[in-house]
Amino acid sequence: MSPSMSPAEIERALERILPAVQKPGRYTGGELNQVVKDWQAVPTRVALAFPDVYDLGMSNLGLAVLYDILNQRPDVVAERVFSPWPDMEAALRQAGIPLYSLETKHALRQFDLIGISLPYETLYTNTLNLLDLAGIPLRTAERGIDDPVLLGGGHATYNPEPMAEFFDAFAIGEGEELMLEVVEVVRRWRASGQPRTDLHRALARIWGVYVPALYQAVHAADGTLERVEALAPEAPTRVTKRIVAHLPPPPTRFVVPYIDVTHNRVAVEIMRGCTRGCRFCQAGMITRPVRERSVEAIVDAIDEALRHTGYEEVALLSLSSSDYDEVLPLVRAVRHRFAGRHLNLSLPSLRIESFSVELMDLLQGESHRSGFTLAPEAATERMREIINKPVSTAQVLETARQIYAHGWHTIKLYFMIGHPQETLEDVQAIVDLCRSVLAVGREVIGPRAKVTAGVSTFVPKPHTPFQWVPCDTVEQIRAKQTLLKQALRGPGLKLNWNNPEETMLEAWLSRGDRRMGQVIYRAWRNGARFDAWQEHFRMDAWQAAFAEAGLDPAFYTHRERPIDEPLPWDHIDAAVRKEFLTEDYLWSQRGQTRVDCRERCFACGILPRFADLRRLNPGDVWECPEVRSPKRIPEPSQMAGAWRVEAVAVDGGHPALRPTEGLSVSRS
Ligand code: SF4
Repeated sequence: MSPSMSPAEIERALERILPAVQKPGRYTGGELNQVVKDWQAVPTRVALAFPDVYDLGMSNLGLAVLYDILNQRPDVVAERVFSPWPDMEAALRQAGIPLYSLETKHALRQFDLIGISLPYETLYTNTLNLLDLAGIPLRTAERGIDDPVLLGGGHATYNPEPMAEFFDAFAIGEGEELMLEVVEVVRRWRASGQPRTDLHRALARIWGVYVPALYQAVHAADGTLERVEALAPEAPTRVTKRIVAHLPPPPTRFVVPYIDVTHNRVAVEIMRGCTRGCRFCQAGMITRPVRERSVEAIVDAIDEALRHTGYEEVALLSLSSSDYDEVLPLVRAVRHRFAGRHLNLSLPSLRIESFSVELMDLLQGESHRSGFTLAPEAATERMREIINKPVSTAQVLETARQIYAHGWHTIKLYFMIGHPQETLEDVQAIVDLCRSVLAVGREVIGPRAKVTAGVSTFVPKPHTPFQWVPCDTVEQIRAKQTLLKQALRGPGLKLNWNNPEETMLEAWLSRGDRRMGQVIYRAWRNGARFDAWQEHFRMDAWQAAFAEAGLDPAFYTHRERPIDEPLPWDHIDAAVRKEFLTEDYLWSQRGQTRVDCRERCFACGILPRFADLRRLNPGDVWECPEVRSPKRIPEPSQMAGAWRVEAVAVDGGHPALRPTEGLSVSRS
């Protein structure tokens, strides 16, 4: 394989191999709305890589956002790269073709910067494979000044340690502004000809950028982490996540694939963040504060995107759509503006209440009604209190009644098993609740009523109140799944579940420390690829990798971590205080719930961390209370993430938290 093949050579070689692989449209580029620029005229070339197959990666909104933002700059070109499916990987290796970008067929190694999306952890072996296929040294320490700079981003990077040795830097948080600052640093470094250590120090000065080479992890003899030390003055002790004060205009020129992909649709993020506080939900914790787009901006964006793409499906995305302040006006405006267009509209993640049914009814009009999804997550009120999803069983049944009455035949119910406080009675209750919902459906629409239960397995994620708890073992999960499989059968009922071994992998990777890099590397060498795909998942490759690295997988998953044990991700600051998470964890053990924090701020830590940003951006776009104190002058070190405001002051906040001088906040 020659990492320096020219685009023309790659094009010619592809002509020979593409007829023999599945879905060649994954590898050709040339789609509507792709951006092609003159390489010689553009100083900085960025590859945006999604380490999974094209069909999936093309539906990733984060990739579309960065592609749009970067390509708007005349001095930057951004092109796309995806993981080749195994048949294409074999063909590339056999023909000696390096991994290349879809737009201009430049070898990946010829880019200045490679931004790799890591929305979930099971992409790690594919990341190494991608680098290997590109002929790029896997470890940062092995890369020289001619090699591209590797930046990882996405929710998985809130614990970047397992992939620390492979990346120059990680973008912690939101990339819209950060990415442009990274591009500027990379451009200057490339021009300077200085060693890579200079690049690392410059990157570490950007707010939200974590440079793992500037830190060292120190472990105790029993394998637990003692501390993570910063090794350079530019490296902040804790790296604060990056946020944008306002969500920028959404992308509207989506690249339209020639082949069928996971989602052929326009996707518009209507708001970011969530105020519900479900304790298992990492996204809900790390994407705070809630910021919304205006109804007008959303409707205009849909209009523009439909004109640019010809799509007939629109998804209005958020973590909790019912909580969008103007959800009813939004739905009315969308229906009004696109009346007669026969669009397929979706509004996922709705709360369990009759209002959600009214919303979907209004949104979907006369169009075909497939399944309606509800996510009670647990089937007993006790477990729902533990996880802070307080909804009553009566409410679930009443909402189900409304759904069937409004023309839907199938209700999909999402549950999660595996929390340490869960008993077999709680699992049996899933069966009972599904049967009760089906019975309601039969009463309303007769034998056409159906229920599909999707039962996933809980993984305690970093930066959540459950980050200290152990996972169920494979045997425990199997026992619970067996109960479900035996009891949840019969006409009208369907059950979907996860492979427990795949859940273990997700847990090892999301809760791992820096030593896990050895395991990932060895698993990849042992043949692990496409770990998120059931047909490719190889537990044997992972077990062998743990043995070769001399690490015990149970250490990462099956022990309760003491509250005072340093966690591998403690130096990554999601701006939700560890004290808040601890308190919420203790509340969960007592079954104590919190209301939506728009009703009452619980002083999670977001406001003091971003007090200046909030003060400079008053109004309803943020759901957190206004900050009214005199402006503090930000220290220069803030841009390195070393935000110094520690204490919390919130009117009406939790009594355990004391107000701090000079900072007051209030609901308008
Ligand atoms: S600061 Fe208060 S309102 Fe804002 S996210 Fe945290 S708890 Fe919710």
